[in-house]
Amino acid sequence: MNATRVYEENIRDLANRPGEMRERSRVISVPEQFGEALAVVPAGTEMELEVRLESVHEGVLASVKAYTTLQAECGRCLKEFATPFQVEFQELFAYTPTEADDYGVHGDHVDLEPPLRDAVVLALPFQPMCRPDCPGLDPESGELREAEAAVESDVDLDPRWAALARFAAGTVTADEKPDSGELPESKSK
Ligand SMILES: [Zn+2]
Repeated sequence: MNATRVYEENIRDLANRPGEMRERSRVISVPEQFGEALAVVPAGTEMELEVRLESVHEGVLASVKAYTTLQAECGRCLKEFATPFQVEFQELFAYTPTEADDYGVHGDHVDLEPPLRDAVVLALPFQPMCRPDCPGLDPESGELREAEAAVESDVDLDPRWAALARFAAGTVTADEKPDSGELPESKSK
């Protein structure tokens, strides 16, 4: 049996019936790993697929949300970690695929795997981080840096960034407030 058939959707009751719609969800075990860099979804990982299939004149439009877990190695401290991961995509499976429509209806089914694989691989983080403020490894000792050491290194930052850091920490006064619309409003006391 072809393992990737877990990604197939039967569309027998949708084909050539524009306006018909089906929603299905299921949990599969990933038969083949996604990705090959620091972050991957390994074979055997559970993946929940929420699939909406709409019959349109040209074929079947699939809207898919996939929820799974990725395994990664932190790009800073090299620690292995797992984190929830989700992607969504929409793909038209055409009755008569052209060069513009990569994917077609095969008999009474569509195969979600190729567009799913594209979406997952594209969304996997290129530089995964175990946590947003991972201090990384000490360049001299190769040991994991303490969080305090990372904070101390702030003195080396560009003064504008130091001001932003103080603002983010809530220690900045009103007239020091950087004039940037991208920062959250400070809460009045
Ligand atoms: Zn890390």
